[in-house]
Amino acid sequence: MKLSTRITSITGGGSDGWDVFYRARRMIADGIPVTELTIGEHDIRTHPDILGAMQASARGGHTGYATVPGTTALRSAIAHRIAARTGVPTAPANILVTPGGQAGLFAAHMAVCNQDDPALFIDPYYVTYPGTIRAVGAVPRAIVTSPETAFQPTASAIAAAARGAVSLLVNTPNNPTGAVYSPQTLNDIARVCQDHDLWLISDEVYDTQVWDGTHISPRALPGMADRTLVVGSMSKSHAMTGSRIGWVCAPEHVIAHLLNLATHTTYGVAGFIQDAATYALHQGADLENTVAAPFRRRRALTLQALAGQNIVRALPIEGAMYAMLDIRATGLSSADFANALLDAEKIAVMPGESFGNAAAGHIRVAMTIDDDRYVAALHRLVGFADRCKPKH
Ligand code: PMP
Repeated sequence: MKLSTRITSITGGGSDGWDVFYRARRMIADGIPVTELTIGEHDIRTHPDILGAMQASARGGHTGYATVPGTTALRSAIAHRIAARTGVPTAPANILVTPGGQAGLFAAHMAVCNQDDPALFIDPYYVTYPGTIRAVGAVPRAIVTSPETAFQPTASAIAAAARGAVSLLVNTPNNPTGAVYSPQTLNDIARVCQDHDLWLISDEVYDTQVWDGTHISPRALPGMADRTLVVGSMSKSHAMTGSRIGWVCAPEHVIAHLLNLATHTTYGVAGFIQDAATYALHQGADLENTVAAPFRRRRALTLQALAGQNIVRALPIEGAMYAMLDIRATGLSSADFANALLDAEKIAVMPGESFGNAAAGHIRVAMTIDDDRYVAALHRLVGFADRCKPKH
């Protein structure tokens, strides 16, 4: 029996640079101690008070079907947070609660792409982007950025790709590059979207992790609120990755249709998870800053650990929980470097190619282990890179 092309073509096939990751997992399963700097997951767990709210809600009976677009309390809390952070008037009717940001990315593309429509995204990219676009039947079209412009997309590159496209997906603060898009970049993005009549899908799941510059939501730029779908999540901001809770913020008529999609796919999000999320959002920025603090600290430790040498160079780490390191001076491809580093030092990092061709020659290091082990791993990584360097 034949499966649908849509399901079999979600992933491009091949290892996509993920073999280092799977090899590290196998080594760990075999009892080999590996320093894991691959995946973007906090080394803290969800705050006990959030779990308390979750338990109280479940015990209080919120275990039945919850209303599909999301509870009024959570949609209001999300709308309030967005309005407060961006200044754009936002109502509960602009919000669909989703089981995580990933479901939001899928829903957003479902809302704006027809079969075979070209949908734009920026390379390097978060791993699921092309697959998400293919999953809705659209055709992913990459806009390549370069380390020389700190992986910020340029207006000319976006405009050159825009012909025939229906949407543009951007992500700031960015995974994997750590870039926070500048006001200039965001204005360029807004202008190209208006000139080419593109929907903008803005993935802002790292909006609380900004170390340099400020997070600007492109929805807040002139003329953009009517053509922007913002994807948000509690995964990174509140260390709630496993709770699967996020949202899409969009014009009311878009949400009205997304409600139908949710009804026919997820049928909503568990009520006790929504209540826990509502509780968490009511704690305001204090809790968000506590969750972000280790990454802010480790970002500074990264810059210290890499100072005084130039074999491994950090790109500006402006936001998110990753350091993108340029290892081109070693003369190795990033996959060869990452594989050799795993063998020699038992340190697992992601080769840049896992996130697209634009990140070749780079590795992504997740700042997700305790400070002492993290700094020690960076020193070993630099020592290893130095030994790889071509001898003249
Ligand atoms: N967007 C980006 C850029 C991410 O890095 C992630 C998770 N790593 C997601 C979306 C999805 O996050 P979640 O589904 O956990 O909200």
